[in-house]
Amino acid sequence: MSRLNNKTALITAAGQGIGRATVEAYVREGAHVIAADINDASLAELAAIDGVTARKLDVTDAEAIKAIAAEFPNINVLYNCAGFVHAGTILDCDEDDWAFSNSLNVTAQYRLIRAVLPNMIKNGGGSIINMSSIASSIKGIPNRFAYCATKAAVIGLTKAVAADFVAQGIRCNAICPGTVETPSLLQRLRDTGDFDKAYSEFTARQAMGRFGKPDELAALAVFLGSDESAFITGQPYIIDGGWVN
Ligand code: NAD
Repeated sequence: MSRLNNKTALITAAGQGIGRATVEAYVREGAHVIAADINDASLAELAAIDGVTARKLDVTDAEAIKAIAAEFPNINVLYNCAGFVHAGTILDCDEDDWAFSNSLNVTAQYRLIRAVLPNMIKNGGGSIINMSSIASSIKGIPNRFAYCATKAAVIGLTKAVAADFVAQGIRCNAICPGTVETPSLLQRLRDTGDFDKAYSEFTARQAMGRFGKPDELAALAVFLGSDESAFITGQPYIIDGGWVN
């Protein structure tokens, strides 16, 4: 397979879930992947995959972001996948919670794009993919105040970058999943104290009666990172099994 031949992709939150499935799909399609995460055990697994360069990167660390962008000046695809789900309403979200969600879900994307974009432009263009969610400006979800607010900001950020750099060969799109079966989702279900009840309640609200699969998200990211999507920019891509309809 060769849909991403000759492309170098930086993928954050590469250690598990959607990021991990995307690393594997990108490598299968011929990309060289810089797989970034904070988890040492995951990084060791990633480093063993052919075509992957694993790097420890906390996306809330501004200096570390500058360093990775300087180390890899030939990034063609930047996938800002890292994100955090704060559970609760605005009344449960104190100043620290609010600051952390903004830092991880929005500021990290702002910093990574600022760090990578100048070389992308110099090299003739590239594709930026930002992880949003349907829990955003697309749909208000109960008990996801900080998450909806920050993932909505991602859509605005995406559209603004797309508009500003469209003439310089830069495309910038967002991915807006519904519920995807990843380790962090399963942990959130365990955290409710009754995993089975939470699993069946979450499944019941899925139009297709099932969660999304990380591989299904990876397939969309392959498309958006490849030249097949060359005429597409500024779009929030809903991938939710028909939840928002
Ligand atoms: P996840 O939450 O299970 O974890 C992904 C990885 O992020 C982990 O390997 C973790 O070590 C890493 N990570 C955590 N903090 C980090 C940091 N500061 N810097 C770098 N890496 C860090 O992954 P997921 O559930 O696949 O979610 C990935 C993205 O998809 C997130 O932005 C999430 O908001 C979004 N999303 C997920 C779902 C879902 O249902 N799972 C739905 C919509 C959107």
